[in-house]
Amino acid sequence: MNQHEEIARTLNTRLAELQRHLSKVDAELHKRLSANSEDQAIELENRDTLEVIEQSDIREIRQIQAALTRIADGTYGTCAKCGRPIDPKRLKALPTAVTCISCSA
Ligand SMILES: [Zn+2]
Repeated sequence: MNQHEEIARTLNTRLAELQRHLSKVDAELHKRLSANSEDQAIELENRDTLEVIEQSDIREIRQIQAALTRIADGTYGTCAKCGRPIDPKRLKALPTAVTCISCSA
């Protein structure tokens, strides 16, 4: 059994959550603006916030997809900088970690 299978499962669950959330944010972003200019001002402000949320969702989705790719090709858990194994405790706390603690500093 793949030792990273459980991490992959957790990441896939989180990925599905993020994608659901992102599609909601996206739908909200593509709603038509109200005809009332005061309402419009509020809507545009909300839109800025939604765009920030959207960007952070997309960033996390990319990180998770990259981690899943590393699990699939067997490079997961190896530091991308020094090539040494990443502490399993670090991976548990931050499953998308690409580098070991020394290299991330
Ligand atoms: Zn390292």
